[in-house]
Amino acid sequence: MKRKKFIIYGAGKWGRKVASYIGVDNIECFLDASREKVGSLLLGKEIRSIDYLVAHKSKYEIVVAANVLCIFEIKNNLEKLNIKNVVPFFEILDLPETEKEQWRIAYNNIILLKECLEKKLPELEEKIEYTHEDIIFVPKIDNEIFFWTKYMAEMLGKEVRICDDMCGDKTLIEILKYICQCIKSENLIKYKFELWSLINKTVSNLNNKRENYYELSRLDFMITERCSLKCRECLNLMQYYQRPQNYSLAELKESIQIVLEKVDGIREMRVLGGEPLMNPEFYEICTYLCSLNNIFNIIIFTNATIPLNDEKMKNIDSNKVIFYISDYGIERQQINVYQKKMDLNKKKYYIMDYTTNDWIKHSNFKRIDLVEKSAKELYKRCNGRNCPVLMKKKLFVCEYLANANNISAIPNDKLDYIYVSNSCNKEEIRQYFSDDTPKPGCYYCARWVSEEKDSCYVKPAIQADVTLKYNRYE
Ligand code: SF4
Ligand code: SF4
Repeated sequence: MKRKKFIIYGAGKWGRKVASYIGVDNIECFLDASREKVGSLLLGKEIRSIDYLVAHKSKYEIVVAANVLCIFEIKNNLEKLNIKNVVPFFEILDLPETEKEQWRIAYNNIILLKECLEKKLPELEEKIEYTHEDIIFVPKIDNEIFFWTKYMAEMLGKEVRICDDMCGDKTLIEILKYICQCIKSENLIKYKFELWSLINKTVSNLNNKRENYYELSRLDFMITERCSLKCRECLNLMQYYQRPQNYSLAELKESIQIVLEKVDGIREMRVLGGEPLMNPEFYEICTYLCSLNNIFNIIIFTNATIPLNDEKMKNIDSNKVIFYISDYGIERQQINVYQKKMDLNKKKYYIMDYTTNDWIKHSNFKRIDLVEKSAKELYKRCNGRNCPVLMKKKLFVCEYLANANNISAIPNDKLDYIYVSNSCNKEEIRQYFSDDTPKPGCYYCARWVSEEKDSCYVKPAIQADVTLKYNRYE
């Protein structure tokens, strides 16, 4: 029997790949939703509109070649037109099985998202009391979601009220949808980094529902204790480091490899210090991290004080890496230089304006007297605990614990971290991060108490003249 010819929906990068794989002679035409493309040629084949497919649907095999979100939408639209014989491009191409599996997972996540929205949205909409223009009800469900929704809402000048029970069985997806509804599209662009992070977290949550699978939605990877600034209230406690060290590529490799042997992946790895570019092996470290398949996204945090090396920048994989540039209002000129270099080198970046947000005044490492019940409540609500850190083969729930432990500013308690050795396993790591029992070091952190009081907020990035003193626990 004569094989049907193919129609490729998507006249872009993936369309070309599919075409060269199946052979241009086996293709009838391309389809594309873009009006500009319709009527022109790709690889000698006409690009037609969807109307062509409606008239000739049964004659051809249809391959959708686009990103997963578009594949989902296209498939959905075609199904409404009763066109069902549609295959995503990654099922056609001769890709390694692991890569195919990655595509399938991503695609299935979108399907899950759709199912979830279809099931929950009517219920959610019924309960929507948040449509009032000036008020945003923030669901108090998940710490990180709560924090960012509240943050974004406040930046928009909206009144924020906490809503404890918005709908029965809440999921992150609903919240994402909720945020999108609350915040108009131009603001979505403004807050794209936060939303991007939320989406990463959602993807992780969905993936982690699979049996025997556990990925970290985020991991802060400290590559140096050195910083070019000395902010008095630095969350990473740089202001206390007396003899800050760089971590070598060899020791960082050892540390990350053992974590990746335990967990199935890291959705978002944040490379930081101090200032990561202070580490003379910065570019080699980034290149190494980019080469690891189960680190899915990398964010490099920088204060833009160290000049970039144009030549070495080329080795940083733009598909995987985003530069997050903190603007403290100190190095404006340098930030402009960074911005130009990022554009020139086609790197993704995001500039975070820290000049208007107040910072939380820091702990003095004194033990706070709290009864267990309120400690538990505060820990559950603490935003800090959403920032897992890997330092010297130890995993911590937050930067404060990691650094306070590292400089011995709090007593060394083994319950404050999980040491990633050959004997520890995935379940222990999952348990460590999900457990709602406050860590012993939390009793030495002012953050959860201070966030309640206005007097504990200070101007951002005030510089300390000297390294600050503290009492060491030996
Ligand atoms: S720039 Fe300031 S806040 Fe950032 S790591 Fe350095 S000292 Fe800390
Ligand atoms: S030490 Fe505990 S209370 Fe302080 S930021 Fe970390 S998790 Fe929160």
